[in-house]
Amino acid sequence: MATLAQLIDDLVTANRILATQGIVDSFGHVSIRHPDNPKRYLLSRSRAPERVETGDIMEFTLEGDPVDAKGRKPYLERFIHGAAYEMRPDVMSVIHNHSPGVIPYGVTGRKMRPIMHMCATIGYEVPIWDQRTRFGDTDLLVTSMAMGRDLAKKLGKGRTALMRGHGAVVVGHELRATVYTAVYLELNAKLQMQAEAMGRVKFLSKGETAKVAETTSPANINRAWENWCRKADRPYREQ
Ligand SMILES: [Zn+2]
Repeated sequence: MATLAQLIDDLVTANRILATQGIVDSFGHVSIRHPDNPKRYLLSRSRAPERVETGDIMEFTLEGDPVDAKGRKPYLERFIHGAAYEMRPDVMSVIHNHSPGVIPYGVTGRKMRPIMHMCATIGYEVPIWDQRTRFGDTDLLVTSMAMGRDLAKKLGKGRTALMRGHGAVVVGHELRATVYTAVYLELNAKLQMQAEAMGRVKFLSKGETAKVAETTSPANINRAWENWCRKADRPYREQ
């Protein structure tokens, strides 16, 4: 069992990996549910993920209130995280990003489907949440629990959802698997766009998607994680 300090260290690493893999730029964030208190989560203060350090990690209630802010400013869109943890007891990690490949799918309504085996963990269906449907004209940021809950509802039981004109949310049963899904969601978007420009695409079937997702083992994920740690110049911890 990893200690809280090790998990926080992994969370810092996840920030750096998402940045080096091009999933987040100066914006976007990643959190984990608190291992000792399911009604809390851990997320950096408002800072570019590439710059996040241990001292930036803050604790929040599911409603998004900092437990001990110590003068640190939280992300405006932290409600994405709390609402997902509230609605989904199985979710242990949440990523919100604006990776460029996913944006066209959110605005055209073109369905994203897993195009190759590595991308199966994105799920057979990737729903699209349109903030305008319920909240009218906004600045497109998820700045309240009402918005976060509406987004979590659209996510349903899945692992990914797109946000129209904004980005995506990715959830998972643990941090490394969630980072893995976010990386392959972006790759799927790029490959699908290339393939659809060439002709009709034969996507993974529902059965194939379920089988690959089931057999994606922690060993697979750790192999990627170790490689990504090295690229991000972060130490690798066996798990
Ligand atoms: Zn955002």
